Amino acid sequence: MSKAVIVGGGAAGMMAAVIAAEKGHRVTLMEKNEKLGKKLFITGKGRCNITNDCEKEALFNSVVSNPKFMYSAFNAFSNKDTISFFETLGLRTKTERGMRVFPASDKSSDVIKVLEKRIRSLGAEVLLNTSVTDILIKDGVCTGVKTGDGEIFADKVIIATGGKSYPLTGSTGDGYIFAKKAGHKVTEIRPGLAPLKIKEDYPARMQGLSLRNVSVSFFDKDNKKIYEDFGELLFTHFGVSGPVILSGESILVKKLAKEEMRLTIDFKPALDEKKLDARLIRELEESPKRRFKSVLGALLPASAVPVFIDILKTDPQKRSCEISVKTRKDTVKLLKNFSLTVTGTGGFDEAIITQGGVDIKEIDPKTMESKLCKNLFFIGEVLDVDALTGGFNLQTAWSGACVCAKNI
Ligand SMILES: Cc1cc2nc3c(=O)[nH]c(=O)nc-3n(C[C@H](O)[C@H](O)[C@H](O)COP(=O)(O)OP(=O)(O)OC[C@H]3O[C@@H](n4cnc5c(N)ncnc54)[C@H](O)[C@@H]3O)c2cc1C
Repeated sequence: MSKAVIVGGGAAGMMAAVIAAEKGHRVTLMEKNEKLGKKLFITGKGRCNITNDCEKEALFNSVVSNPKFMYSAFNAFSNKDTISFFETLGLRTKTERGMRVFPASDKSSDVIKVLEKRIRSLGAEVLLNTSVTDILIKDGVCTGVKTGDGEIFADKVIIATGGKSYPLTGSTGDGYIFAKKAGHKVTEIRPGLAPLKIKEDYPARMQGLSLRNVSVSFFDKDNKKIYEDFGELLFTHFGVSGPVILSGESILVKKLAKEEMRLTIDFKPALDEKKLDARLIRELEESPKRRFKSVLGALLPASAVPVFIDILKTDPQKRSCEISVKTRKDTVKLLKNFSLTVTGTGGFDEAIITQGGVDIKEIDPKTMESKLCKNLFFIGEVLDVDALTGGFNLQTAWSGACVCAKNI
């Protein structure tokens, strides 16, 4: 059996360590942080959306960049396998809206705990506070890695260093340097699944406000609708985020690199304009002396009221009975079509994933081994593969790690 060094104790690295150790390989897992799975800990807002219990076709469709590359990996270890894998390790799971799978405890720390426990129980060596600074290559064969403590030789070296997003968790792009040293092409890397930047200051004024059930539509400069969705939206200090934005972001990102886009938010998707107008008339007529800002307060969250009043250019102190038909109609239009200018996406500091990475053309999808350097493997986000939100990015990490560790 081989001696395998795995560089990076994140999702992919930990999974690879379990599978390789189960197969009897002598595994050393090297992690530069003081603990394993720092990024995993913050996934799914601390709940870790481990996978998505969708059908096979939807799983393939969820991969945005290079889905075909994932065929062997998904076949070797599917989303259903992820659920049984974690259940077998003692982690009870539950499935929520959109088939998103979480630990029943709602704690990402439990995902890390079961993985780490399994790694240690299998006798794999875990070296924390160990930063790999280089890989050793001799005559086109990878022979080991270099750390601050010196050179460590191995039969197989698996790079699982992640991408470049949320660098504070440890993923600072080291894997790209190792890949380049081995002669690999690294495609252009970009922040993916990041919040969208908005020109107007309205999001900043509503910062922290989360709208649960809104419809959003994105339009290009020719006013052609590019994307629409329904769900939860969050206003941030410089823009918009939340599931409804992030699910469309991978589709919008290329367009946004070239031009600004228009985003419209329907605050009342359950009511058409006619019904919403009738509702507003009722609110206005019920208490004619009520101030306009209180009427809006009945229809909107408090932090959105001053923004609406500014856009409507209306005196907030006006009484209901003083509201003109025009203001009423404008209010309805604004509630149904709150329009914002999208100027771009946020940076790596707030991006959920990295798009781009080690070029998959130079990687064998059945083993994740480099086609250029023998005994060198790449798994997880370091590769040029990314997926939609909903547990799919972790699934690509689990699947890639498994197909690799099963075949080293
Ligand atoms: C806020 C947030 C929420 C997310 N939520 C979800 C979610 O709910 N579901 C989902 O599917 N995806 C989610 N993702 C994406 C998902 O976390 C990543 O796609 C996944 O963690 C990638 O796994 P990885 O093992 O490739 O990289 P990582 O998990 O980033 O692990 C890489 C590890 O390598 C270590 N490392 C790097 N360089 C070196 C070196 N030179 N030497 C030693 N160690 C090194 C790092 O310290 C790190 O621990 C989320 C991401 C973020 C940022």
